[in-house]
Amino acid sequence: MPEPTTAACVAAVGKSLFIGGAWVDPAAGGSFPVYDPATGEALCEVADAGTRDGRRALDAAVGAQQAWAATAPRQRSEILRRAYEIVLARSEDLALLMTLEMGKPLAEARGEVDYAAEFLRWFSEEAVRIDGGFAVSPDGRSRLLVMRQPVGPSLLITPWNFPLAMGARKIAPAIAAGCTMVLKPAPQTPLSSLALAEILHEAGLPAGVLSVLPTSDPGPLVEPLLRSGQIRKVSFTGSTQVGRLLLAQAAEAVVKASMELGGNAPFLVFADADLDKAVDGAMAAKMRNMGEACTAANRIFVHESLAEEFGHRLAERMAALVVGPGTEPDVTVGPLIDDAARGKVSALVADALSRGAHTVTGGSALDRPGYFFAPTVLTGVSRDSELMRAEIFGPVAPIVSFTDEDEVVRAANDTEWGLVGYVFTENLSRALSVAERLEVGMVGLNTGLVSNPAAPFGGVKQSGLGREGGRVGIDEFLEYKYIATPSS
Ligand code: NAP
Repeated sequence: MPEPTTAACVAAVGKSLFIGGAWVDPAAGGSFPVYDPATGEALCEVADAGTRDGRRALDAAVGAQQAWAATAPRQRSEILRRAYEIVLARSEDLALLMTLEMGKPLAEARGEVDYAAEFLRWFSEEAVRIDGGFAVSPDGRSRLLVMRQPVGPSLLITPWNFPLAMGARKIAPAIAAGCTMVLKPAPQTPLSSLALAEILHEAGLPAGVLSVLPTSDPGPLVEPLLRSGQIRKVSFTGSTQVGRLLLAQAAEAVVKASMELGGNAPFLVFADADLDKAVDGAMAAKMRNMGEACTAANRIFVHESLAEEFGHRLAERMAALVVGPGTEPDVTVGPLIDDAARGKVSALVADALSRGAHTVTGGSALDRPGYFFAPTVLTGVSRDSELMRAEIFGPVAPIVSFTDEDEVVRAANDTEWGLVGYVFTENLSRALSVAERLEVGMVGLNTGLVSNPAAPFGGVKQSGLGREGGRVGIDEFLEYKYIATPSS
């Protein structure tokens, strides 16, 4: 197995905080460990940012904002394009780094590097397409000009489950729009963000435009920034619980907010579904990232005529997966992020079993170092089980059977979340009607994968506010300015 002292790790480990275009030590000193979830052992220490470092980074962002907003769009575009090329050139190192700190298998980490790189390329193309408007007022007496300007210094906060892509999905549109930024990555996975900062620096990003502050204690760092009146935008990806807290803090200084929050995705397999496609889709929607994805299929509803066959085929596929450290070549399922995550998954499975569910495969944590949980299929899951209401965030597929279309759509919508839903049917009218009625921001129609940098990603209800990616992704970092002028 590669050691954490490989070139990949050395590239990011040992760096200090990235503030104002330089690697600097934290004002109060101090560091915290980053663990390898495949072993439970520490990989390295990273510098621990505190309140004063937050202030320094904010000053750098505020100081750089005006000049950065005035750069030519082509200049910002070319920085992003160079960063895209460097990320691809370092794909193997970045993938290994991500696997070490987060646990996902190398093949998936390589996929995430490509996905993250694509945000850099997509927004390099969008940077030069920021437009405005011109209109004659209805009474003919005025000319109405509309321009779009960067919203200003932005605070970006990311989770641990997609360590590179979640940062790139925020940083790239902010750069394209002309905003400066302070990024706080998740403490479990700061290395990928530090590596990305280094790459953007090499690509020519001016000093102060991006600072990266890993911290073991986010509250005292983030709250003063949100209340400062100088941060004009917060873009958060993480749990709904933390999102609510940040929204409340942002309200005080009326900070524009984008929230990419949790999900509880329904996965619907109708009687007229192609079973091969449905099983493939379930494998993708459930097992990507070991189930640690906001888009993960959380509640699998299968028509009663197919439920047994579907459960059997899904269990066969799940049982054939190879569980182990993500750095090993044949491994397809890595560890969960930490002991608490594994404990939560175990408790959810125990609750479902106590309410009458049957284990078709898996069902328990693995007795080995690291935080592994066996790929699990449960059938006969009662709808009042805790795992129907909570984000499972693990490799557990609960199957519930249904009979009636209207009833299953109601059940699918019976949650405070609304990020994504999956629909499997070969009937076009049913596909469109169900997709329309699902209360979600995204639908996978006969596919288990919706993420695409060219598409607007995001949810409704308590899954969030705003969209990332696609043509609209840059809008989150722009404001409209309207200029009125009389006709001469
Ligand atoms: P989390 O616990 O909400 O943490 C997310 C980030 O917020 C981390 O960097 C965390 O740092 C930080 N944070 C926590 N408390 C904070 C505070 N008081 N002030 C400022 N920052 C604070 O979520 P997670 O466990 O990392 O990620 C999993 C969640 O993210 C799931 O709910 C998943 O569905 C969601 N997610 C959503 C999307 C999407 O696009 N909709 C994508 C990926 C993940 P600390 O860890 O130090 O607390």
